[in-house]
Amino acid sequence: MDSTTPQCPACGSEHAYPDGSLWVCPECGHEWAAGAEAAEAPAAEGGGVKDANGNPLADGDSVTVIKDLKVKGSSLVVKGGTKVKNIRLVADAVDGHDIACKIDGIGAMNLKSEFVRKA
Ligand SMILES: [Zn+2]
Repeated sequence: MDSTTPQCPACGSEHAYPDGSLWVCPECGHEWAAGAEAAEAPAAEGGGVKDANGNPLADGDSVTVIKDLKVKGSSLVVKGGTKVKNIRLVADAVDGHDIACKIDGIGAMNLKSEFVRKA
């Protein structure tokens, strides 16, 4: 979505051009804020942790890891497909590790929500 020009929300023109932080439609003159209609962008206002598909996650959810993840500071790997039960969302996530959980054979760790799918 970053490399494509958005359609004008007013007239549907595909010839909009960026002007500072705004998009401008040359056909109808409409101006709008870039990304205003991209609802899948992570909310910066806290809350709103979403999985790889954009589904909202909540405390107590079960998720599936979608790719192999190295555990920082160890030789352990969380395999893609690993099921993780009873996650807890981290309000002040560091480096995007916004899910706290416990994984069998590994222990307590934090995951990035972008690497899980709601089970
Ligand atoms: Zn337009």
